[in-house]
Amino acid sequence: MIRLSDVALPLDHSPADLEAAVLARLELAPHDLLRLSVARRGNDARRKSAIKLVYTLDLQLADEAAVLARFAEDVHVRPTPDTSYRFVTQAPEGYAGPRPVVIGAGPCGLLAALVLAQMGFRPIIVERGKAVRERTKDTWGLWRKSVLDPESNVQFGEGGAGTFSDGKLYSRIKDSRHLGRKVLTEFVKAGAPDDILTEAHPHIGTFRLVTMVMSMRETIEKLGGEYRFGTRVDDFAVTTDEAGVQHLAGLHLSNGEYLPASHVVLAVGHSARDTFEALVKAGIHVEAKPFAIGVRIEHPQSWIDVARYGPSAGNEILGAAAYSLAHKCSNGRTVYSFCMCPGGRVVAATSEEGRVVTNGMSQYSRAEFNANSGLVVDISPERDFPGDVLAGVDLQRRLEELAFKAGGSNYKAPGQKLGDFLLGKPSEEFGEVIPSYQPGVHLTDLAECLPAFVIEAIREALPVFGRQVPGYDHPDVVLTGVETRTSSPVRITRGRDFHSLNTRGLYPAGEGAGYAGGILSAAVDGIRVAEALALDLVPVRGGV
Ligand code: FAD
Repeated sequence: MIRLSDVALPLDHSPADLEAAVLARLELAPHDLLRLSVARRGNDARRKSAIKLVYTLDLQLADEAAVLARFAEDVHVRPTPDTSYRFVTQAPEGYAGPRPVVIGAGPCGLLAALVLAQMGFRPIIVERGKAVRERTKDTWGLWRKSVLDPESNVQFGEGGAGTFSDGKLYSRIKDSRHLGRKVLTEFVKAGAPDDILTEAHPHIGTFRLVTMVMSMRETIEKLGGEYRFGTRVDDFAVTTDEAGVQHLAGLHLSNGEYLPASHVVLAVGHSARDTFEALVKAGIHVEAKPFAIGVRIEHPQSWIDVARYGPSAGNEILGAAAYSLAHKCSNGRTVYSFCMCPGGRVVAATSEEGRVVTNGMSQYSRAEFNANSGLVVDISPERDFPGDVLAGVDLQRRLEELAFKAGGSNYKAPGQKLGDFLLGKPSEEFGEVIPSYQPGVHLTDLAECLPAFVIEAIREALPVFGRQVPGYDHPDVVLTGVETRTSSPVRITRGRDFHSLNTRGLYPAGEGAGYAGGILSAAVDGIRVAEALALDLVPVRGGV
């Protein structure tokens, strides 16, 4: 097969046009092209009056060697890469060695557990939250009734933080082994739409994620894996061998049980603040790392569609438009858009009582009225929260508490119209934009719950972004806060062998450990870590 990339055609082209473009591009006759399939489809909307669909295609040709030779200098004509996944090792028949434990059933833990199960290691998955159906009810409990369950919410429970999300499935990670393809293939097997394998910016939406997560659980259980829901890892037991090397020995669980464990994937996500404390207490290496804080911004989706797609706004093939923005400010900070959710809603994303956190989600259709995204400012331990390794957590908590208070101490989010935000005055009534956050938005002044340098940086960036996306800085646009859970405030550092830097047998992974940001990268990291752990149990020559 030959992979032909960068084939651009008008938005309204026919399937026959695609074939004709291939023949023209490769100077072939129709009988030379035996089969054509789409490997990837994106769009180029730089010229709004002439938006193009851009394809990467896999072609079966009568004489592929001749075409490859003729186009040897052309980077867009290459042999199709082999993206199939191969297990790095396999548990032998009747394997009676240690069972790996996976802490956390988010995308990272889920893929780690799946791959371990597929290799025959029968993992035990320990998840503090509930199974996803029950968890869904609890999550809606906060949104509809202002009742938070600190162990079952947007952050905690089967499926992890990405379950109630837009389900965006792209990432900028280096992926020479095509592990992202393995993740997407497993998602499709579990019920995700096929187009995630070909769309340049695939997404799933919340409802499908819920059923996929259940289907993956069924697969893991059929392969001998075992889930323990409603069970939190509270403490880590370590031992030191004669050579002075620290090893993980077992886990103290919230039900009082001690689970001996020598091989553990730690995939707890960025909100497991109590678990971070337990790791530090057990002497496991943890360090503070940069993250970002700010607000959510909401616009009518139609404004973004028009700004991005001009006369093609609303075109079904293009779907709801997204944006990605960044601005380097005069105070040295960078303001950027984060986790943009077209046609979605802003969600209450706290996991702790008396705190308010915003995030965003959408359904597969992306058909809701508003577009939203985080608008956040980078912060670092050296500059903003020096000293204690958990100082970033303290800062998050402080801001989330201020937001709770500013919102009226009832889980409503504090909000402000953009025009008032720029003028530094509290808002009193909504204008053209009605926010989507449930249980509601209380209009106030967001300066009450964010540091001055963050407010200053966002004020500088808004008009800049308004020049890039017309309407972005309309005075009626609504900002809500606070956005604090952008990534983990700590790194649970691991070595090149994927073990914790100072505790063998503990494999920190995913977003909480500081090795991923987003569903796809967390899932890919889960596979990498599972492979390293499996090879430690059953080594083969050659390694990962
Ligand atoms: P998590 O998904 O956070 O999973 C960690 C799991 O560990 C949780 O289930 C938790 O309950 C469990 N756990 C924690 N501590 C313990 C313990 N001590 N014992 C037992 N279990 C424990 N990313 C995207 O790529 N696209 C999006 O569209 C997107 N939208 C998002 C929308 C929202 C509302 C949120 C909150 C996040 C969104 N993200 C999105 C980010 C994405 O969800 C995360 O990057 C991803 O889920 C991280 O995966 P993870 O497995 O590393 O951690």
